[in-house]
Amino acid sequence: MKNERILVVEDEPKIAELHRDYLDKSGFQVRILNRGDGVVDLMRQDPADLILLDLMLPGQSGIDVCRELRSFSNIPIIMITAKTEEIDRLLGLELGADDYICKPFSPREVVARVKAVLRRSRLTTTDGPWLKGGPIRLNSETREVLIEQNPINLTPNEFGLLEVLLKRPGRVYSRDELLTLVQGYDYAGYDRTIDTHIKNLRKKLQTYGVEASINSVYGVGYRFQIPS
Ligand code: CA
Repeated sequence: MKNERILVVEDEPKIAELHRDYLDKSGFQVRILNRGDGVVDLMRQDPADLILLDLMLPGQSGIDVCRELRSFSNIPIIMITAKTEEIDRLLGLELGADDYICKPFSPREVVARVKAVLRRSRLTTTDGPWLKGGPIRLNSETREVLIEQNPINLTPNEFGLLEVLLKRPGRVYSRDELLTLVQGYDYAGYDRTIDTHIKNLRKKLQTYGVEASINSVYGVGYRFQIPS
């Protein structure tokens, strides 16, 4: 089995070395960049399996790097920030990071989060136009959804939601972000309507024995866990 490759983007050499030591011991292949500029070019040419991305970086900020990466890539990204309060702001910016870690962190925790994000990113598989997660299969072309082999009827909004969530299990989405992704435009002011769609989608999934797959994240929004 090939070792998974982690790109660490961190300008403080001591912290970068700490990441390297622990990730290396856990069997990952680690590469370090100490500036933000250059990350996007490198990932276009030679993508890693996951990026640990510091927020404050010379050259280009972690925020800009994350945003630019997301314009062409689904690579798992864990953002590292110095302040817990920053996380709310970062989520508000809808950067599309998969997880957030606060400094000071324990290196063991970083390894655990890296493993968790990689595990989640492997859970959804594709088979032509079909997205598969646990018992759920969704076809983006024919707009069919099957649970086990049973077809399930969803409204266009429910289908859009499930499609977005199924593509990135574990990732936390704000209500605004879900509305924009599902409806394709900014729907400012009405973000609670997403709660109704979520409620109905949950109910339908439950009818087919899929429990607790869409979880509320207090004060933020929702995240999807692949059901077993
Ligand atoms: Ca820094």
